[in-house]
Amino acid sequence: MFRQDFPILSRKIYGHQLVYLDNAATTQKPRTVIDAMTDEYLNVNANVHRGVHYLSQQATELMEQARETVRAFLGARSTSEIIFTRGTTESINLVAASFGQAFMSECDEIILTEMEHHSNIVPWQLLRTRARIIIKVCPITDDGHLDLEALSRLFTSRTRLLACTAVSNVLGTVNPLDAIINMAHDHDVPVLVDAAQAAPHIPIDVQSLDVDFLAFSGHKIYGPTGIGVLYGKEALLQQMPPFMGGGEMIGRVSFEHTTFNELPYKFEAGTPDYVACTGLARALDYVTDIGLDNIAAHEHDLVTYAIQRLREIPDMRIFGPSTAGVISFLVGNIHHLDLGTLLDRLGIAVRTGHHCAEPLMHRLGIEGTVRASFALYNTRAEVDTLVAAIERVRKMF
Ligand code: PLP
Repeated sequence: MFRQDFPILSRKIYGHQLVYLDNAATTQKPRTVIDAMTDEYLNVNANVHRGVHYLSQQATELMEQARETVRAFLGARSTSEIIFTRGTTESINLVAASFGQAFMSECDEIILTEMEHHSNIVPWQLLRTRARIIIKVCPITDDGHLDLEALSRLFTSRTRLLACTAVSNVLGTVNPLDAIINMAHDHDVPVLVDAAQAAPHIPIDVQSLDVDFLAFSGHKIYGPTGIGVLYGKEALLQQMPPFMGGGEMIGRVSFEHTTFNELPYKFEAGTPDYVACTGLARALDYVTDIGLDNIAAHEHDLVTYAIQRLREIPDMRIFGPSTAGVISFLVGNIHHLDLGTLLDRLGIAVRTGHHCAEPLMHRLGIEGTVRASFALYNTRAEVDTLVAAIERVRKMF
């Protein structure tokens, strides 16, 4: 499906047709995204927001159109709530620094979960060092779901935020955001959702979810690297101080006193990656044109088929429910790194290791896994190639 839109998929690796199954790390880019960015560099390029001249205004218009595309994609109320960042990591760091400064002090608590990516753990640990906050962790069940019972017991009068992923990048678990957000709001606790692994696979509507902050990365949804989004409710963002200082984010500056720009620019210091904003918008248009529901249905079919085929392999261990595009596994005693390296020699790109989720690896009692992750362009034939290659490697051991 749509493979011809992605030039890189025709590459050969070590003489084998590339089978790209590392989509949870980053997705490949359709030609329409590459063309839009090339066109902007060739024909429009000028720094945004500051120029009276034609090109600057055109570049600014493209960037603000991109913001509107993101707003529509997330179902946000206003473009004031859409902040461009470098990616999910920067978005979460922004909230940790700025929300932390505005709303959290010594002994205040944040709730995370055992299945978080490091980018939704370490920023809070940095805040803990600075502000002596307390980090509480919601456990997972043995089958890889959040333990909602345990979660409900973690809230106290000191809880200031719940930050959790929508989809586990290791287990493929799709967390029940409605229930989680309702539970948090019942305690008057806002929620930050890490949608890095959700945005490419599941339709998101921030207003119907009533989520307070939501982060995702452009490069995981067929867009360019170096661009991502933080959605935040305007009422909260208004009360939060800037994250970084510099150009764009100011009103007036003197050595005595500086005022800040309005939303969302207050949080966008310096020259933004405006060309990547255009690329991201084009990627979201691409996904929207195909339809996230259609993408989800295709990926569901692939993952279901892949699990069924992988289970035919003796000594196969699959971790988690693998619901959204991600399957983590180990085969017998073969080290994940050996398996990944040998699959690579057969042209198959998978990821190995702890997947930036070391606490989850500790919980599972393993060092790492092999992870195959799927996108709209993958096929059942590629699953067959993967399974045959694993069998070949297994027989070598
Ligand atoms: N959160 C999750 C669940 C992820 O899978 C990732 C990347 O793998 C991130 C956050 C970090 O994304 P980025 O490196 O694009 O900032």
